[in-house]
Amino acid sequence: MPSFVIQEKCDGCKAQDKTACQYICPNDLMTLDREKMKAFNQEPDQCWECYNCVKICPQQAIEVRGYADFCPLGASVIPMRGQDAIMWTIKFRNGSIKRFKFPIRLTPEGYWNADNIYAGLPDPDYGKIKGPGYFNYEARKE
Ligand code: SF4
Ligand code: SF4
Repeated sequence: MPSFVIQEKCDGCKAQDKTACQYICPNDLMTLDREKMKAFNQEPDQCWECYNCVKICPQQAIEVRGYADFCPLGASVIPMRGQDAIMWTIKFRNGSIKRFKFPIRLTPEGYWNADNIYAGLPDPDYGKIKGPGYFNYEARKE
């Protein structure tokens, strides 16, 4: 099920030019009703349930109901973003809860680009180019 905004929790990102959910959605789906100062998913059928908006919302105002194959009715998967990690709270249908904490990347936005993504790695060994699993930037350029 696509993302949806819990209206009571959304504060419109305090009327900034662009809300956090607008900024992060890779499909430009989130929009802001500037009269009500509430965001909403303007095209739910285009949402691929990537959870980006859920993770970035500072008010925890967005939820995604995952597909039934990994999140059956009555279960939920809720992330909580911290400074250096995301805590995922998984609620099972029988009510039991598990939490998993994963570190998040701390490099500045835009840091990884084609010029430095492989910085510090050894030069490619073209002798291995036909072998399975060979991958690096130089190989990709060919
Ligand atoms: S990021 Fe959250 S608080 Fe900000 S506009 Fe979107 S739903 Fe509302
Ligand atoms: S779940 Fe992903 S695709 Fe769907 S609205 Fe949020 S950021 Fe966009």
